[in-house]
Amino acid sequence: MTRQDVAIFELDKQQKGHLDDLLKVCHTHLEYVDEAMIRDAFALACQSHKGVTRASGEPYYLHPLEVAKIVASELSIDGESVVAALIHDTVEDTDVTLVDVRGVFGETVANLIDGVTKIEGVFKNRQSKQAETFMKLILSMADDIRVVLIKFADRLHNIRTLQYLPREKQMKIASETLDLYAPLAHRFGLYQIKNEFEDLCFKLLDPNSYNFVARKLREKKAAREAFIAEFMEPIEDELRDHGLTFEIKGRPKHIYSIYRKMQRQQKPFEEIYDLFAIRIILEDPHTKEDCWRVYSMITDWYTPIPKRFRDFISVPKANGYQSLHTTVITKSGQRVEVQIRTRRMDEIAERGLAAHWKYKEGGHAGSQTLEQFVSWVREVLDTPRPEAATEFVKDFQLNLYQDEIYVFTPKGDLKTLPRGASCIDFAFEIHSEVGERAMAAKVNGKLVPLRQKLKIGDQVDIVTGPKVNVNPDWIEDVVTHKAKARIRQFVRQRQREVSDRGREAWEKRAKRSSIELSDQEFMKVSHQLGFDSLLVMFYEIGADKYDIGKLYRAVKDFKSKGRLEKEEEQKELESILTPTLEEVGQKFNQEAKKGINEQSLLIDGGLNHVKYHFAHCCNPIPGDEVMGFISRTGDVKIHRTSCKNAIHLMNSDGERILEASWARTPDMQFLAAIKLVGEDRVGLINDLTDVLSKSLKTNMKSINVSSDSGMFEGIVTLYVADLSHLGQIMEKLKRVEGIRTAHRFE
Ligand code: MN
Repeated sequence: MTRQDVAIFELDKQQKGHLDDLLKVCHTHLEYVDEAMIRDAFALACQSHKGVTRASGEPYYLHPLEVAKIVASELSIDGESVVAALIHDTVEDTDVTLVDVRGVFGETVANLIDGVTKIEGVFKNRQSKQAETFMKLILSMADDIRVVLIKFADRLHNIRTLQYLPREKQMKIASETLDLYAPLAHRFGLYQIKNEFEDLCFKLLDPNSYNFVARKLREKKAAREAFIAEFMEPIEDELRDHGLTFEIKGRPKHIYSIYRKMQRQQKPFEEIYDLFAIRIILEDPHTKEDCWRVYSMITDWYTPIPKRFRDFISVPKANGYQSLHTTVITKSGQRVEVQIRTRRMDEIAERGLAAHWKYKEGGHAGSQTLEQFVSWVREVLDTPRPEAATEFVKDFQLNLYQDEIYVFTPKGDLKTLPRGASCIDFAFEIHSEVGERAMAAKVNGKLVPLRQKLKIGDQVDIVTGPKVNVNPDWIEDVVTHKAKARIRQFVRQRQREVSDRGREAWEKRAKRSSIELSDQEFMKVSHQLGFDSLLVMFYEIGADKYDIGKLYRAVKDFKSKGRLEKEEEQKELESILTPTLEEVGQKFNQEAKKGINEQSLLIDGGLNHVKYHFAHCCNPIPGDEVMGFISRTGDVKIHRTSCKNAIHLMNSDGERILEASWARTPDMQFLAAIKLVGEDRVGLINDLTDVLSKSLKTNMKSINVSSDSGMFEGIVTLYVADLSHLGQIMEKLKRVEGIRTAHRFE
């Protein structure tokens, strides 16, 4: 379709009259009017809605015409918006496509219409009644602020002609308007439109209350006008004498707000309404200085109440509202609130950002809060360039909502998610159970992978299964804290289960081999094997990813190494013994070494020439039950059968065990250790060494003592002949004053 195709559409006489009206309105309110384009748009609307009537019985084209008039006169946007308003229903309701519109009227108009249609869909699908969330949604979807304004104009005309629709449709549209459009209009600073939305809806939803307030207003009208005239008479003369042009307004008759005030304050109509208020509006080009002059004239005539004075001109409200407020008392004692402002200030107060299509002022703002939103809108829109509206929305989206997207549930509930959120995030946002059982997702009716990222306006349906179906890899595909936390929790839980299995398997194995390790020791082993934690190590074992035998060997190595370390520690301690004890120890040590020979034991019933050593872990002495163990190097080690290592060896390597028993060896010396516990006192060690040196055939190797808060703990290593000899020595040591217990130390 081209401009030529549209240009041939004829207008009848009535339509021509309507077009002339519209053009007149445009010329009155807009700076620049492309008459031909408006004419063509109107012709296309007439043509495409031909034969269609509204509920009122009027031709349908009158609706877009009226919307276009509102856009021009009440919102004063611009020519392109008027064109878009004229054909806003054409693409949706007729064969004309967006491509056609783009061809005939250009990119901007096509984008405006596309935006209006998209927003319509958002409103239709909505469940959320939160105007703020909705405004976010609408702004994030609309690429151009004019889209929202045209939508307001559309709704305004629909609500003005609502009486022709069936009652239930009226109720539905009225409640939607009251819930959504009115707060939105308020947010945009479109106060007049907001008031009209509210009054028209109120009238439909609660006609009795509406009529009550309306009747009261009518009854008071004459008295009120008389009062205002009397109050203003001296002032008006003075204003004219000073060459000021102005308009006087009484309190705006916003029925819904009067009614709500009555409800809220539980006061009768009279008490709400009889607070007289007068507004003086100075026509252009009067300035704020003129406002102050008017203030001074009024307070010359009437007595002001100082605490009721407000200067919103020097310090505008957050939404950009500017005005001087004062309350004065008349000679008859009546209080009157007086508002003084310029026409520009009044337009902004009444019509919000729309007024800025007419009024321009400097300044720049970058705003982050919704409260500052409206004033920011104003400042950005102040630039005289037409692309400002688009830039504004872009900046706005970037600044305020760059981190959020808005998507719908199948029922149309709105959900706010961070940008980059996937269907998985959405599922967890709905409910953690939905997330855990998610199998697939449908986005806008199409089956998609769960990890698919969501876009603004997507409608998402999560398909769930009967069982928990969390995939640990999901962690890569989510951005919300909630989803991350739940997935991690699930992964940890599963890890713990597998890990518990692994630990159980190990414990069985360890029990068989009688290996005991503290968790701390185990941690060391797991670190040596390259695991971050015991949990991970047991998880790998439980998941059959790590051979339990490898762990077993590592633990064994650790154990024997640990013993060596202990011995080295012991040697270090020995080196700091008192000289006396050391001398004694050394002496007996040399003698003891001589005592150990091949004749001490009968190995495997009397094998000759077998080299054996006494194991350091249990230090067997004659009398102890012992056994031999063939080491990898071919040596035989003698352990006590009660020794933990021996038990372990017997279990794991039974074929290397040799029987061993003590031969009669009267003059042999064997190393043993005794642990002593008691109360510390001066001279205790002397007494101990005295007992030991006086005992027959007792050679002390070392004594190791620690004392803490009066308690004494000592380990004595010495050479004894056999078990009974050791027993005798322990009995003697127990009798030393302060010693409570003496045990063989293993
Ligand atoms: Mn419409």
